[in-house]
Amino acid sequence: MARSLVLNASYEPLSVVPSRRAAVLVLSEKADILHATDEALRAEHISVPVPSVIRLRSFVRVPFHRRSPLNRRAVFVRDHHRCQYCGGHAESLDHVIPRSRGGEHRWENVVAAGRRCNTHKGDRYLHETSMRLARQPRAPREHTWVIVSVGRLPEHWEPYLRVATAQSA
Ligand SMILES: [Zn+2]
Repeated sequence: MARSLVLNASYEPLSVVPSRRAAVLVLSEKADILHATDEALRAEHISVPVPSVIRLRSFVRVPFHRRSPLNRRAVFVRDHHRCQYCGGHAESLDHVIPRSRGGEHRWENVVAAGRRCNTHKGDRYLHETSMRLARQPRAPREHTWVIVSVGRLPEHWEPYLRVATAQSA
């Protein structure tokens, strides 16, 4: 299923929707196409280019600076699939402060980790081990949620996401 990137009237990325839904927004004059694919959606007697990037005509208020949802895939994207303790391939998530010792399940306390490091660390605090974090975990500022929802970014989406990241930085 093809997907489309939806930008707010302010050009801030809002969401990723099925392209069919994006086409409906364009046809109902709620959005304009910024980038179309070579393919077309055909209905009875109309044919519309499949939108890849659209921009809403009216501004949608987003209540809070949108945080990426915390899940396994999103953490792996943020940490580039690398174990944050040894730099090896990550297969699991680790709570820096173990959950059994009150560690919270939040961006600042969750890192990608290899199984061996995860097991080695166990229920200990980091300072009780000789392990070190490659960097302090934070909630991603970039639009990681977009990458997470599509898996791999279409090349022509990148400029739209880069502009937004620069503005919110
Ligand atoms: Zn490791």
